[in-house]
Amino acid sequence: MKVGIVGAGMVGSSAAYALALLGLANEVVLVDLNADLARAQAEDISHAVPFVSARRVTNGDYADLKGANIIIIAAGVSQRPGETRIALLGRNAEVFRSVIAEISRVAANAILLIASNPVDIMTEISTRLSGLPRGRVIGSGTILDTARFRSLLARHLSVSPQSVHAYVLGEHGDSEVLAWSSARVGSVPVETLARQLGQPLDADARAMIDGGVRNAAYTIINGKGATYYGIGAGLARIVRAISRDERDLLSVSVSTPDILGVRDVALSIPRIVGADGIIGDVMPDLDATERDALRDSATLLKSLADAVPL
Ligand code: ADP
Repeated sequence: MKVGIVGAGMVGSSAAYALALLGLANEVVLVDLNADLARAQAEDISHAVPFVSARRVTNGDYADLKGANIIIIAAGVSQRPGETRIALLGRNAEVFRSVIAEISRVAANAILLIASNPVDIMTEISTRLSGLPRGRVIGSGTILDTARFRSLLARHLSVSPQSVHAYVLGEHGDSEVLAWSSARVGSVPVETLARQLGQPLDADARAMIDGGVRNAAYTIINGKGATYYGIGAGLARIVRAISRDERDLLSVSVSTPDILGVRDVALSIPRIVGADGIIGDVMPDLDATERDALRDSATLLKSLADAVPL
């Protein structure tokens, strides 16, 4: 498995580091507009690799992505003071237009894994720009929000997060929806287990978990300016599902033909992930409030993606 990474900043290099240490790719190639940065990141990560495996981490230009099975796009520009969200989106769409054109020339069949924010909109734009089947353009979406939801529920119930099945749906951002009504531990609804264990999920407990999921990124950004280790590991998790054809259910962002009446919008619901990318969508049972919130999230994302000139 060869993985290319375009954008060797904090997120791209964290993904490279996670892939190298977990031994999930034989070869990782870092490409960046700033070639010195890509070289430095590749060298630094290479020095960690001999402690755990014999994988290759190199830097290069687009030609070196030839033969890549998966290409992570973590390139982007940051917001200028006073710049609107939609103006930033326009500039990032420009970056993606050139990046995707370059990738199409050398690795037209690679699965694209989108990490740049706002990830749902960049995933929809990448699907439109690349012309690839929708299941081969995957955004990291709510993979981290879902992990956080599970770990907070697990902590409340004193069980392992691996036994919690719960998803965060919609936008990776403020309009995301915690699917409480379908959350299970094993086969038991979380509410039922919480009552059995004498740890009821009352309004306060729910609000604490909800806030913990929604505010995680803000809290980290306040403390250190950016988030990258978590998403680096999340991207490695998606690569694992593809490279081993695991067919795991992961909440990732994919352009979806119809979600509650909203058409052609990228957002997260659980998806079956395997060697060919997305093999299927799995819509959880939702109550009326959750359905409305997911429709609102989809509508918001759709209006933003459609406003970006391509
Ligand atoms: P993040 O924290 O999201 O990783 P960074 O600013 O650290 O953000 O990284 C973004 C990277 O994307 C930078 O290293 C930048 O040089 C790179 N980049 C920006 N535009 C392009 C482009 N057109 N092609 C390749 N890389 C790009």
